[in-house]
Parts: sequence; structure tokens; C-alpha cells
Amino acid sequence: MIGAIAGDIIGSPYEAHPVKMTDFELLGRGCRFTDDTVLTVATAFSLMTDGDYAQNYRIFGRLYPLAGYGPLFRAWLASDDPQPYGSWGNGSAMRVCPVGFLLDDEAEVLREAARSAAVTHDHPEGIKGAQAVALAVLLARRGTGAEDLRRELTARFGYDLARTAAEIRPRYAFDISCQGSVPEALICALEGRDWERAVRLAVSLGGDADTQACIAGAVAEARWGGVPADIDRRVRLVLPEHLLEIVCDFEARLREQHGGGKDTA
Ligand SMILES: [Mg+2]
Repeated sequence: MIGAIAGDIIGSPYEAHPVKMTDFELLGRGCRFTDDTVLTVATAFSLMTDGDYAQNYRIFGRLYPLAGYGPLFRAWLASDDPQPYGSWGNGSAMRVCPVGFLLDDEAEVLREAARSAAVTHDHPEGIKGAQAVALAVLLARRGTGAEDLRRELTARFGYDLARTAAEIRPRYAFDISCQGSVPEALICALEGRDWERAVRLAVSLGGDADTQACIAGAVAEARWGGVPADIDRRVRLVLPEHLLEIVCDFEARLREQHGGGKDTA
């Protein structure tokens, strides 16, 4: 899960100022954690506690009100009677990776990803985006190779994953829909030769940089069993104590459940 957080932090300066290249400054000034991090940690917290996603997204969202939520999510946070709002936005996909890191059964991962999405993003594309990312994480941490991942995710979700980042980049622009940003982020995670390259590719599309780097960073972490040590160390310094503690608790939980080795969070 630190891969998702690292992707969010690395992508954060480039959401408002998109770049179309991979050799941008990695963790320079202006890097901060955003909504993607806060809600990913809230998902991990829910999985370790009561499983009440709606309640925990509201608690975490209100604790970090300036993290950069979309207007519909902000209205949902403020509402006295919060209801799912039919969203197909990529918010469901950016917060879901802890499901794929913790749970081991495919059906359970798909079910839990849908549950985490449905409290806000109950449009079929919102649900699908969350399921695709969670399943990609599960399959990747099992050691599934890029080509098999591409085939499996295409067959299950109907995403066009046959494109390359270089083909997407020239005409790509900011798109917060699941259907217009999740497949592209997955392509970067599959195409990258290592964690850093996957995240650099995601930012270089010039789209919803923090969220797409968050998604690519999560799947890449699962593929390569972690985040490069120097990046891991530096992004933890950006997190407030409260969020970092939950990340550490979740990592301990994974070690307990899966043992050492390739499974990280
Ligand atoms: Mg964000």
C-alpha cells in the first residue's frame, strides 16, 4: 500500500501542471499526500476494523479536509444523510488497493472491492474500476506476469490494455472517469520494467497524475514486492503520524497473514 501512497505523493505536483515526459523531478518541492492517500489508508483501516467503509471514509475525509477531494465527494462528506451518488469517477479505484493486498481469494477481493466502491461510486464503471485495480494487485502479488495480467484483466473487465504509454500520451488529457483513467494506469504498471518506471509512465501521460500514479504504484508494488527503499523512506516522511501508524499496522497485519517474502503493502 505504500506504493499507492508513494505514487500519489510523486504525482501530486503534476495533477494541476501536467507533464508529457518521464524524466520529471521525482520527489521535489510541492509533493504532498492527497485524497488518494487519505482514502487508501481509510480502506486499510476499515479492513482491519469494522469494515464500515462509509463511516471510515467520512471520518478520514473530515480529518483531512484539504486533501483535494472532488466536489461530489465533498458534498457527501458534508451531508447528514450520505447516499451513494452514482459516480463513475476514479475515486473508487484509487482507494481500493489494500483489498488486493490483504485478501487472498479472487471472489472475496472482487466482492470487497465492490463494497468499498458502492458507498459512493455505485455506477457500474465505478464498481468495475475498483475491482480491476484490486484484482490486479492480488494477481500481481501472486507473481502473475505482465502478459497474463493483461489478458486476464482485459477478459474480465473489457478494458483495452493493448496500447502502450507512448501511444496513449500524445492525445491523452485529464480524465477522472474510471473508464478513461484506470486502464491507462494499469497499462503503465504492466509496461514499466520496475516500480519507478511504472510510476513515471503514469505521471507522463499528463492526465490525473496523482491518482493514476497511485493506481500504477499499487500494482507495481505488488509486481515487484515493494517500493525502492529510498523512495519508501522519503514518502513516509511526508505522512502525518496518524496515517503512518495505520500504514505500519496494516503492513504488520500482512506479514502476520502472509509471512515475509513478496507480499508487501
Ligand atoms: Mg488526489
